[in-house]
Amino acid sequence: MSWLDIDKKHVWHPYNSLPSKASLLGVKKTNKTSIFLETGEELIDGMSSWWSAIHGYNHPRLNEALKSQVEIMPHIMFGGLAHEKAAILSKKLVELSGLNSVFLCDSGSVSVEVALKTAIQYQEAKGLKKYKFIALEHAYHGDTLAAMSVCDPNNSMHSIYGSYLPKHIFTKAPELGFNADCSASIAALEETFSKYHKECAGFILEPIVQGAGGMRIYNPIFLEKARELCSKYDILLIADEIATGFGHTGKMFAYEWADIKPDIMTVGKGLTGGYMTMAAMITSKNVSDTISNSKLGILMHGPTFMANPLACSVAIESLNLLEETSWKKNVLNIEAIFKEELQNAKELDLVKDIRNIGAIGVIELKDDTYAQEIQDYCVKKGVWIRPFGKLIYSIVAYTIKEEDLRKIIKTMIEAIKSIEK
Ligand SMILES: *Cc1c(COP(=O)(O)O)cnc(C)c1O
Repeated sequence: MSWLDIDKKHVWHPYNSLPSKASLLGVKKTNKTSIFLETGEELIDGMSSWWSAIHGYNHPRLNEALKSQVEIMPHIMFGGLAHEKAAILSKKLVELSGLNSVFLCDSGSVSVEVALKTAIQYQEAKGLKKYKFIALEHAYHGDTLAAMSVCDPNNSMHSIYGSYLPKHIFTKAPELGFNADCSASIAALEETFSKYHKECAGFILEPIVQGAGGMRIYNPIFLEKARELCSKYDILLIADEIATGFGHTGKMFAYEWADIKPDIMTVGKGLTGGYMTMAAMITSKNVSDTISNSKLGILMHGPTFMANPLACSVAIESLNLLEETSWKKNVLNIEAIFKEELQNAKELDLVKDIRNIGAIGVIELKDDTYAQEIQDYCVKKGVWIRPFGKLIYSIVAYTIKEEDLRKIIKTMIEAIKSIEK
């Protein structure tokens, strides 16, 4: 039995059946922005492993960071003990975000859980019983139960779990488009806040790009309004930067497009350059002080692998690389290439919309039935993308070569054309 047969029989994959009904490609190794399959083919990576491998794979500096750390200390519990790498990483995150207090945890979804708990504890510390959250339609904040409860209620995940999930307040998502008029969604937001502010601890959103819930790029004005309303009603603004963070939209964090600061931020995905599972929840000093000076006086969370030193050391080196390389210039180049090449998809019959920002390029189809077919076509042509529903998109490493990026986009478009024929 080959290892792929064992996998098919015993191993769950994301959003899949067991045995898998969808085809699975065996990966032998990676290098830079290439994936090498067991069958010998090389695929150019158009997904950067779900937005995480921002420097490409097997970067010598990141490899070395892990190798040297494993000799020093692979892991140590974080309860009652501290280590240097966690401090160095947290200092960097504080400097980049302008926030103050860092909670290092295991994955994006967990950082969202911690953010929601933090917001509730903040309100409780002020003597307020506020247990609901405001969230956006089309939102995606993760797969654990509390994170899922603030995801778009109309994507079926909510209905699957019946009455188990807490009910939150959903408000109209900002209109599609970086320059779009968002007066309608802002009016809805004002109404939501005035109606529900007494019950709500926080407002969680993905700044500028709503990712897995629809790859929706929106106007920074909406964020300014969100900040204003949150401050007015003392509802914490939670910026979920797990997908958008570390340069994906052309700013280090997407909320910088609006010249605002959140009260709480979550980061993950690109944090370790795609090497290790790690995320962080970062808050203002006001939030951590309020909780720490409350009657309870502590934040009630503490995972076994909190601040894992291997993950910390590779995250530090990934942030060093960002500082030292001209990531901003690279992302701007990528943006220009997406903009140019995606024009060729605009007039196709199947295409509803094209949009792009930073290292993110999206073709939205009118129909959601072609995702698998398009993926298969691209793989055959040496390109790895993984569309979902109507969305054929690519998010690339900042180190990708221009010719490879052009090939990814051209192949996506060819794939759509092949269906139109
Ligand atoms: C991926 C993602 C998450 C969940 O992160 P995991 O590491 O998959 O748990 C949460 N929020 C956003 C915006 C994401 O893109």
